[in-house]
Formats: sequence, C-alpha cells, structure tokens
Amino acid sequence: MRLETRLVQAGNRQDPRTGAVVMPIHHATTFAHPALGESTGFDYARLANPTRQVLEETIAVLEGGRRGFAFASGMAAIACVAQLLEPGQHVVISHDLYGGTFRLFHQILPRLGVTATFVDTGDLDAVKGALRPETKALFVETPTNPTMQISDIAACAEIARRHGAWTIVDNTFMTPYGQRPLELGADIVVHSATKYLGGHNDVLAGLVVVKDDELAERIHYYQNSLGAVLGPQDSWLLVRGMKTLAVRMERHEHNARRVAEWLTRQPMVSRVYYPGLEHHPRRAVHERQASGYGGMVSFELARPEWVGPVLGGVRLITFAESLGGVESLITYPATQTHHEIPREIRDAVGVNDRLVRLSVGLEHVEDILTDLEAAFAAARRAEG
Ligand SMILES: *Cc1c(COP(=O)(O)O)cnc(C)c1O
Repeated sequence: MRLETRLVQAGNRQDPRTGAVVMPIHHATTFAHPALGESTGFDYARLANPTRQVLEETIAVLEGGRRGFAFASGMAAIACVAQLLEPGQHVVISHDLYGGTFRLFHQILPRLGVTATFVDTGDLDAVKGALRPETKALFVETPTNPTMQISDIAACAEIARRHGAWTIVDNTFMTPYGQRPLELGADIVVHSATKYLGGHNDVLAGLVVVKDDELAERIHYYQNSLGAVLGPQDSWLLVRGMKTLAVRMERHEHNARRVAEWLTRQPMVSRVYYPGLEHHPRRAVHERQASGYGGMVSFELARPEWVGPVLGGVRLITFAESLGGVESLITYPATQTHHEIPREIRDAVGVNDRLVRLSVGLEHVEDILTDLEAAFAAARRAEG
C-alpha cells in the first residue's frame, strides 16, 4: 500500500469487538492479567498503551523502520535517543539546527560526559574531519531549521557506518511523506510530531523510529525507564492529524513555493531560504533524497529595523513560535526558537537579527501574500 493510503487508514478497525473505524482512546493505565505469567500484551501504560501502540506502529511503517516510539515532546524523543551514548563518547551534529537540540547537545549532555562537535553536515569533508575515535553518532537535520541547509543523508550514513557510528536524522521538516532517512541508510529517525505530523498546532509530541531490533530494544528500555511517554489522548490526536498528512503537505508546499518566489522579487528582502528555489546551493542533493520541498521558508530583511514592523504588521499570519500547522506562523529565530545558540554561531550560519522564518499554512495563498505585502508596506511607512 502507498503512503497516502496507510496514513488515511491509520487506526481503522483496531477494535475487533466493535469494528470502530476510528480507534478508541484507551485511558486505562493498567490491564488485567488472564493468569499468572500471562499478559494480553498490555500490563502497565508506561510500557505500552493500545492507543499509543497504533501510533507507534503507524510511524514505524511510514518511516520504513522496525519499531516506533511516541514521547511527550520532540525534545523528550531526542533526549531518549541520547541515552544510547555513554560518558566519554562524542557526537558530530549539524551546526544549524533546532535550538532545543543545540541546547541538549551543547549544555546538558556535556555534563554527563558526552561531547559534540557542530559542523556543516552538508560538507562531507567537514563531517569526516570532525570524527574522533570516540565518535558514536552523527546527528543530522535536513533541511535545517531555520536556514534550510541540506545534508546528503546517504553519504553521511555511509561515513558514519564505516566509523562504527549511528546516523540519527531529525525528519521534522520533511516528514516521511517527503523523505525517509532509514531507507537512505540512517539508523534512527526522530520527529517533533508537534509540527507537520500533528499539523494543527494542538498537540505536543515526539516520535522515534529505529531500523534494527537491538536498537529498538534499547530505546524501548529507555522510553519505559525515563517515562516521558505520550498520553492516550494526545496519541489519538496525532493519529487524527496524520491521516491528512499527504494532502496537507501537498498544499503547504504549493503555498510555500509561491511565497518563496514572491519573496525573491521583493526589494526589501535580501535573501530567501527555500530548498525549491533555483539558487539553493544543495538543491540537487535535496531532490535526490526527498520528494517535495516542504512548507518552511526563511528570509532575511535587508534592514534589521524592518523586522519589528513586519512582525507587528501581519494580520492573518500569526507571530508565534512553532511550525507545520494549518495556520501560517511567522517566527523570529534570533530571540525565539534559536535564542539558546550563542550569537557567533548564529551569525556564522545566518540566524542573524534580520532573519524571519515563515511556516506557510493552508490558507489561500493570495491571502497570505496580501498579508505579507501589507506588513512590508507598514514597515516602509514606519521608516517615514
Ligand atoms: C520543534 C522541533 C523540535 C523539538 O520538538 P518539541 O516537540 O517542541 O519538543 C526538534 N526538532 C525540530 C526540527 C523542531 O522543529
């Protein structure tokens, strides 16, 4: 079956007793044992919950992995994966990436003896140069949040494999509808399902998918031991959102392409980041490993004084953090999502005080453009 079909059918007829087309929400935290030493497969809800299990099976199939795991947030998912690392081990990681992931690898994990080197993982020589004998994982975000840098997943996975290290890919921006890292050689995929998978700005969740049984056993052990599992209600909401992922991604991309092209024609905009634009430096790599370009567009205003009036001037688009929902959001990474990253590093990767990130929603694209146009005009007027 194709991905679109699997998405739509997720959770259908999971309850043999009733034949419910929509999966039930099992709030039970504990399950009766048929007899001593026997189990229905469900004992205590931290270990497994029937509603969460449907979600976990669905994401595993979508990503082409062995097993999936659902967490209370994307950061809980990534933090659980980080448990695979021992004190003294080292990680090579994309230098432009989600601020929370940066904080975890830059501030939290070093306290536990796990260190990280941040490099442009799109530059394979830089990746090779950063490897150390104790390097145990390569963590790649592609396209990156927020400057849409592209890394070659297959080439990175090959470098890591030869070194005896795992490749972990944050697939939040593309989703399995657009990109399947495990099929390209990665070992572990992580998601902030809060974004496109949920898709409606109404559920905080994280997912992990692994390719092999041994890793699956270990992740399940850490998931249960640390306990940051996703609750049944949120698991249900996530499956509900995922059913429409394919149609949403198509429209997100359609709108985002129009917005990106429009932005390239604006004199107030000095730079546009979108993997689908002709000038994107690693567009060919992206096209080889993904289908579509996603719904995220970042751009740099020519002057920092315009940022405030533009963010304050939008009416339809909401000035807020997060991304991937049906409603368009505009974000200022320097003080919001990427505030944790020191200024020198931010400047080096382009997350400067003129950069604005747009999560292009599913409104009519002409209305989105009209809103941006009015905000730009307001910024020019503010200048006097
Ligand atoms: C939002 C995000 C995260 C963190 O996920 P939460 O659900 O907010 O914990 C991780 N990676 C990327 C790329 C994100 O956009």
